[in-house]
Amino acid sequence: QKARIGVTGLAVMGRNLARNLARHGHPVAVHNRTPSRTKALVEEFGDEGTFLPAETPERFVESLERPRRLVVMVKAGGPTDAVIDEFAPLLEPGDMIVDGGNANFADTRRRESALRERGIHFVGTGVSGGEEGALHGPSIMPGGSAESYEALGPLLEDISAKVDGTPCCTHVGPDGAGHFVKMVHNGIEYADMQLIAESYDLLRHAAGLAPAEIAEVFRTWNTGRLESYLIEITAEVLAHTDAATGGPFVDVVLDQAEQKGTGRWTVQTALDLGVPVGGIAEAVFARSVSGHAALREAARNLPGPSRAAAAGPGFADAVEKALYASKIVAYAQGFHEIQAGSAEYGWNIDLGAMATIWRGGCIIRARFLDRIRAAYEADPQTPTLLTDDHFAEAVGDAQGAWRDVVATAARLGIPAPGFATALAYYDSLRADRLPAALTQGQRDFFGAHTYRRTDREGSYHTLWGGDRTEVTA
Ligand code: NDP
Repeated sequence: QKARIGVTGLAVMGRNLARNLARHGHPVAVHNRTPSRTKALVEEFGDEGTFLPAETPERFVESLERPRRLVVMVKAGGPTDAVIDEFAPLLEPGDMIVDGGNANFADTRRRESALRERGIHFVGTGVSGGEEGALHGPSIMPGGSAESYEALGPLLEDISAKVDGTPCCTHVGPDGAGHFVKMVHNGIEYADMQLIAESYDLLRHAAGLAPAEIAEVFRTWNTGRLESYLIEITAEVLAHTDAATGGPFVDVVLDQAEQKGTGRWTVQTALDLGVPVGGIAEAVFARSVSGHAALREAARNLPGPSRAAAAGPGFADAVEKALYASKIVAYAQGFHEIQAGSAEYGWNIDLGAMATIWRGGCIIRARFLDRIRAAYEADPQTPTLLTDDHFAEAVGDAQGAWRDVVATAARLGIPAPGFATALAYYDSLRADRLPAALTQGQRDFFGAHTYRRTDREGSYHTLWGGDRTEVTA
């Protein structure tokens, strides 16, 4: 018997993806650099389906039906290249290598191009949902050729999460498109988490609520428009009591957030593409600030305002509105980045389809994504989600509360960079005139960088060092 698909790299993600495939009735070949992992998988879970264990790459490849479908689930970066170099010589034209790791999309473009020359399809695939998702149904974002999706799509859709019967998996676009979209998904995840963290901080320090009370607030929010996996687990974490101290768990955790890099990539890529993603950038920077222990210690005694003037009743509702509005901004920025990446690399990504496959399986899964899908269905070319009827109305309704929350945070000295940058972005987009006009004037003054005028075409320069007449540049 041959396997329909094979997985190499059997740490938490690969092992659970292989089990998910087997549980869906697909015979799956399994391989790991260190064979003990392969053995352990078959011993522990062999009764869940048909596993074909292989100790060597040669045996692994031999056990696959043609065209071969080979999923690589190893540590991203050098290890992925090492595994490709090891397996590619054993493959034939038409075979497929699926990289399900968190690869940088630029690496995926490089690998795809190199393997395409050898006739091998390289399918850079975003997989979200952590180890539970991998086992029970992740959100899957495969890139690569349309031909490879014909051979792989049905299998991947089969093991993906489903929402209303629709698989959370679709062909994203050529070469690096899948990993690009996964990267932005993670960037949005950073922003979402930061906004939730700020909401908690404000409820705690402006409204004076205890963690258990805040957990209740999040539980209530989770029955409304904010319903999402992240809000749900936030309530769980806040309600959790530390066994050692008997106090709130959140109070014993060191307040230094870590990161693995996809949020940073989202911002670096946005800078390269010229897309403003302040909400995502502030989320990455907020984690960075938290981790600078020595810097924070040095600054600890800097003066701040009195926090006596605590927020009044209704503050939790105001925070809910600020959170919803800021979340819309973060998603609008993330989708803008996908739109820009798609245009830059010619991927032709269907934005509404991305919202559709993020509704289940992944970390940012939420009811809200149905709204985004509907917005792109109504106008696939919309320059920003903010102008969609539903979102424009929601933000319009929220803006008073949103401003109050940002003002309260500033007044009480509670950092709320996510809320503040989201509001600034909103106000920047709606501004009739931006002070960028002055910036242009300064640039022309010190560097003769020229400017354009509002009243006629062309580029101009003022002779700042001379008689200040204007000349055509
Ligand atoms: P790890 O990222 O911890 O990687 C461990 C696996 O990589 C092991 O199977 C290991 O083999 C293998 N490996 C490492 N170096 C090499 C090498 N040079 N040659 C061959 N194999 C090598 O595993 P995870 O399961 O956590 O993640 C797998 C991929 O999925 C990563 O790219 C990760 O970023 C991505 N991912 C992870 C998520 C998660 O929640 N953990 C979510 C979504 C994506 P050995 O046993 O021999 O050491």
